[in-house]
Amino acid sequence: MAFIKPKIVVVPLGEVDFMMVNKLATNIGPVFNRSVDILKGLKVPEEAYNVIRNQHYATIILSKLERIKANHKEKILAICEEDIYLPDEAYILAHSDSVAGTAIVSLYRIRQEFYGLPEDDTKIYSRLYKQAIQQIAYLNNIAGCRNPICVHYYSTNMMDIDSKSEKLCDICKRQLVKKK
Ligand SMILES: [Zn+2]
Repeated sequence: MAFIKPKIVVVPLGEVDFMMVNKLATNIGPVFNRSVDILKGLKVPEEAYNVIRNQHYATIILSKLERIKANHKEKILAICEEDIYLPDEAYILAHSDSVAGTAIVSLYRIRQEFYGLPEDDTKIYSRLYKQAIQQIAYLNNIAGCRNPICVHYYSTNMMDIDSKSEKLCDICKRQLVKKK
């Protein structure tokens, strides 16, 4: 049997703008030299919801995502509109588990309207794209980057995301090539 490169599977959880998901799926494939599938119709797991915090626990979402993998090398990238968290953090923008090969990006705090600003789809897409590239880089075991311009630079808020570029720096690119 011919060797087939494992895919990246983009999973919109709940109500997520499909045009944006589609555009993302088209654009991330070439960066990682992988084909990308979109898996629709999945809901945000109810058991991940924390009533007290009014947020969703990212680890539970990731453990659910692991079950939909077709093979262990496949990378799953979920997108949601919910506010997500880890117990030690007030909130997180994204989370990944490189052992399981699963990641999630939340749009909740990267929307302009969260800060009382007028909505701007171009900006949201760019942020989602950068977050997605960063998470998939983590899934490929590329350590966080110290170059603030690199898309793989750690960002904790919308402004950090906006100030970095959409591209991986040469050091990150080289690591990615080595791991292919
Ligand atoms: Zn880098």
